[in-house]
Amino acid sequence: MTVKPAYLVDFDGTVTTEDISYELAVQLAGEGYDEIDRVYRNKEITIREWLWRTVKLLPPDREMLLSKSFNWTSIRPGFERFLEHARSQGSPVIVASDGFGFYIEPILEKSGLLDQVTTVYRNDTVLNHEGRLEVKMPHAHSICPVCGNCKAFHVVNLKKQGYPVIYVGDGSNDRYGASWGDHVCAREQLLQYSRKYNFAHSPWDDFYDIINVGTPELQDCSESSLCCPLGRGVKE
Ligand SMILES: [Mg+2]
Repeated sequence: MTVKPAYLVDFDGTVTTEDISYELAVQLAGEGYDEIDRVYRNKEITIREWLWRTVKLLPPDREMLLSKSFNWTSIRPGFERFLEHARSQGSPVIVASDGFGFYIEPILEKSGLLDQVTTVYRNDTVLNHEGRLEVKMPHAHSICPVCGNCKAFHVVNLKKQGYPVIYVGDGSNDRYGASWGDHVCAREQLLQYSRKYNFAHSPWDDFYDIINVGTPELQDCSESSLCCPLGRGVKE
């Protein structure tokens, strides 16, 4: 039997047309966000730190934030057809996000697509006992300081099950998980990193492009990868 690939799919700016976490920050975090944005862009803080600092500036009203999330984005063209394609060939589709996370299932459910996704690995944003928002990161690496959600671990886990992995993403932080992918479908900053690090990759615009990507060979990426999810984490 031919081995079918598994798909590891980023959410913000990948499944959706907009990066909702970034939009929440820019639109609602206020003036204090400018400095967070500056140090993040200068690579002075990690995404984990970005999440911790930014969430403190958001209004502590999840219903309002969810309503804004619905209004500010839509599902990228071809995603429903892609999910049908994956299901018909027996491929798992794992959605993995390193944003605020709480809006993912509601957006997929509203679109009637949640049941077609195999698993969602994400952070959560909850009200603490002081009535302030905080980010929970249940899938973070135990010591690596970079990512809130260790997507590289999810990729390695799929490969251990025998699946070649097609990584689909757009962001700069996707480079860690993508470095373990057997093929990378890349747009925006991830496309630049895929060229820089010579990932086996193809650019994409919508999910019809993902359907057309063939099954890659399962590779050992332990030397070329940017991090060790089963070891000490980031190598850079
Ligand atoms: Mg993204």
